[in-house]
Amino acid sequence: TSGRTPLLAGNWKMNLDHLQATHLVQKLDWTLKDGKHDFGAVEVAVLPPFTDLRSVQTLVDGDRLELKFGAQDLSVHDAGAYTGEISGAFLAKLGCSYVAVGHSERREYHHEDDSVVNAKVKAAYRHGITPIFCCGEGLEIRQAGTHVEHVLAQVEAGLDGLSVEDARSIVIAYEPIWAIGTGEVATPEDAQEVCAAIRTKLAELYSGDVADGIRVLYGGSVKSSNVAAIMAKEDVDGALVGGASIDPAEFAAICRFR
Ligand code: PEP
Repeated sequence: TSGRTPLLAGNWKMNLDHLQATHLVQKLDWTLKDGKHDFGAVEVAVLPPFTDLRSVQTLVDGDRLELKFGAQDLSVHDAGAYTGEISGAFLAKLGCSYVAVGHSERREYHHEDDSVVNAKVKAAYRHGITPIFCCGEGLEIRQAGTHVEHVLAQVEAGLDGLSVEDARSIVIAYEPIWAIGTGEVATPEDAQEVCAAIRTKLAELYSGDVADGIRVLYGGSVKSSNVAAIMAKEDVDGALVGGASIDPAEFAAICRFR
């Protein structure tokens, strides 16, 4: 992680009712503060469903919670006749620091291809929101041994046309699809291999200096029992956590990985 502030981000997906969501945010912040979590040294963010964001914003602002928060997706458009869509402008008004872009569930169930994901990355930056750009290979690609090429192609296409200034702040999440929600976590060596390759690609696209500052997260069945070994790897700068992020004690334990 050399010099990069680790980021632990919880992707709640389409879970919890509104009351559970607000309780989770409060409990998580209290639990972390009880453990004297240094929010400056390890950043913690939650990505609730859209319908919880207003309340999360109120809690974070009103109770001075130190958690960051963001959304799980956004529209490629800024405004207009796009029924059911949520714009980056809306998310910015709600105080979102982050937005996940190109999560494998969006790519698979909503047919988001690299060009849509690229447009979403740019839409996020138009509104000053940092994208958490998700990439990762399916099982067949992993078995064929072409996972590194596959992920690097996703990164190159997804970040196409991004300015160096914007690239500096992006967060990349490497999430092998075979490890998402399956309980089958990648080995720390697997995570390191791809995260390091992503950083090398970023150095090629921008510069070594820019690549050194970009946080590359691992995601896929991260739990308190496996997070430390993954975080020990040099090019892994945090985790995007799904299932384990909706249990405050478990997610807090993940955030205290060291
Ligand atoms: C995710 O959806 O980003 C994820 C990593 O899920 P899980 O932790 O449940 O595998």
